[in-house]
Amino acid sequence: MADHPRGGRDYPRSVGEFQAWFSTDAACLDYLEWLRWPDGFVCPECGVAGGWRLGDGRFMCPGCGHRTSVTAGTIFDRTRTPLTVWFTACWEFATAKDGISALGLQRALEIGSYQTAWAMLHRLRSVLVRPERDRLNGTVEVDETYIGGEEAGLAGGRAKGKKSLVGIAVEINEPKGLGRCRMAILADGSAASLDPFVTAHVEPGAKVITDAWQGYAGIKALGYSHDRRSQRAARARGEDPARLLPGVHRVASLSKRWLLGTHQGAVGSAHLASYLDEFVFRFNRRRSRSRGLVFYRVLELAVGHDPVRYRDLITKSAPRKVSPTPPSARGHPPSIDRPLLDRPWRLSYLDNSG
Ligand SMILES: [Zn+2]
Repeated sequence: MADHPRGGRDYPRSVGEFQAWFSTDAACLDYLEWLRWPDGFVCPECGVAGGWRLGDGRFMCPGCGHRTSVTAGTIFDRTRTPLTVWFTACWEFATAKDGISALGLQRALEIGSYQTAWAMLHRLRSVLVRPERDRLNGTVEVDETYIGGEEAGLAGGRAKGKKSLVGIAVEINEPKGLGRCRMAILADGSAASLDPFVTAHVEPGAKVITDAWQGYAGIKALGYSHDRRSQRAARARGEDPARLLPGVHRVASLSKRWLLGTHQGAVGSAHLASYLDEFVFRFNRRRSRSRGLVFYRVLELAVGHDPVRYRDLITKSAPRKVSPTPPSARGHPPSIDRPLLDRPWRLSYLDNSG
């Protein structure tokens, strides 16, 4: 993968380019191989580089004899969904500004199974958080809010579910504007829950702004400079207490609007965490100059992520339809017959090494 990926070379800049590059499953597989092993095959078992390509397309390690494929050990491990369908799902997921619902994806792909669309989106969501990502820095507002509680009922109506307490942290830019954000479900509003949330998501030494809630009393002892803003004092001054922390207020309302819009509020508390990951991923890339670059980043994360089993997705709760499956949704999309470009990402790799 390139350090400075370039549109038209490392990732498609438009839907036309996307369709021209990835019109076959073989082209998709080669792109994944390039993303995963940009300098050639490296054995995931022993780390030895080199190796042979076997007749069935798999690789064999010269060091330990391990045989593996491009997709083994990634979220595409043992998938029965063609890679062209996966790539289209990933393109829709990455390029739609507010994302796409499972029903929307099922319609876009013209696939018969709502479950397949639902599981693909959940697998994509599960790769969005890099374990080694940087913590927030500078000036950071931290607060909690209740999210969720609207779930699709059996009769298609709304049933009141359980709301979850969610921690929000967002960087405040000078002189104005918001930087990156983080969101996570909290067990409760106690210091025992809030302290780990702050240390996991905010770099020590940063300035942390909170309200006067006692759960934040220990922030300073954790190595942060702490600006506590009292809602009572604001009220006494005749100010709107909600304006004390305008950054987290904005993130909370945007995330709630997104859940109600793209996903029509049909997000169970069991899956709320992964939807919050998706919201944070989108929010932090809201100024990305290219949606194609976001597509590249998602695939890059997907080939670097361990497999996600379907049973792990559904043990939390089974997928539920938010509205009936449209009739005549069966069958696969017709092939998009376009001239096949000769793998531009491979040409760029030759350029770089020369
Ligand atoms: Zn090996």
